[in-house]
Amino acid sequence: MPRSGRRGGIVAAAANCRWLLCLTLLATFGAKAQDAFRLEQPAPGVFVHFGKQLALDAPGHEDIANIGFIVGTKCAAVIDTGGSVRTGRALLAALRQHTQLPVCYVINTHVHVDHILGNAAFRQEHPSFVAHAALPAALARSRELFLTQYAADLDAPATANQLIGPDRLVTDTLKLDLGGRKLLLLAWPKAHTDCDLTVYDERSGTLWTGDLLFRERLPAVDGSIKGWLAALTQLATLKPHFVVPGHGPLAKDIAAALQPERRYLQALEDGVRAALKQGQSMPEAMDTVAVSEKPHWLLWEQGHKHNVARVYQELEWE
Ligand SMILES: [Zn+2]
Repeated sequence: MPRSGRRGGIVAAAANCRWLLCLTLLATFGAKAQDAFRLEQPAPGVFVHFGKQLALDAPGHEDIANIGFIVGTKCAAVIDTGGSVRTGRALLAALRQHTQLPVCYVINTHVHVDHILGNAAFRQEHPSFVAHAALPAALARSRELFLTQYAADLDAPATANQLIGPDRLVTDTLKLDLGGRKLLLLAWPKAHTDCDLTVYDERSGTLWTGDLLFRERLPAVDGSIKGWLAALTQLATLKPHFVVPGHGPLAKDIAAALQPERRYLQALEDGVRAALKQGQSMPEAMDTVAVSEKPHWLLWEQGHKHNVARVYQELEWE
């Protein structure tokens, strides 16, 4: 084969390759763009974006919570907004792919950064922001942390006016009408946090638990172990068709979905009680309590010792 011909062949092949590469990259980019913000619709009008099971300080931490929205005939309600204003905007853009109705409500299931930092993306929609009556105080306590540790998840410069708290508070129960479907909001006593709120869509039987339910990812105790175990007993009496946990996959059988978390929390409570009875120090308890649970949970190292410490503090003065 003549050299020039061979080179021509290589050039042509390279050109083809570039096209192929281009097409492959475009396809990959397209798939990634879709993957970047995927919605699932477990029931008509109920849309969920499932967050990734990543640590709070890992790249991608702004998209670790389950967030979404429910659409009625009159308007839509957003349930949690994600861990950054960018995530909130992605959720709003995804919502607009499905409805042009107004966003009447943005509901926060609790104060944690991965559920609330996207609120500012919805301000332009002029919704009512709805949360547990204890959330404003919890947000005030978190303000400094959010503005310093999570500044990059807000629009620059990170300012306190992007941390949007509720204008409508739930002290016990509240019903919101989206037109043709009603949401029942329940405010819980101290459990995962001191401001947990669940949302039940009566029409589809979908229960959004917020972080009262973690699946696969290690639960984080930031409220009361005793309160949380009591809340699980009550949650189990609800009979939803679908359960959207705060983290982890959708469930249909609530009793089965609650079981691993109940087992872990009970092991924590029993283990810390036993450690206190034996006179163990907090560091000793951190190394011994509930360690048999480790294989069952993602992100164990990031949270278990902290959980033992929280429960130790709660139970040591009983
Ligand atoms: Zn949480």
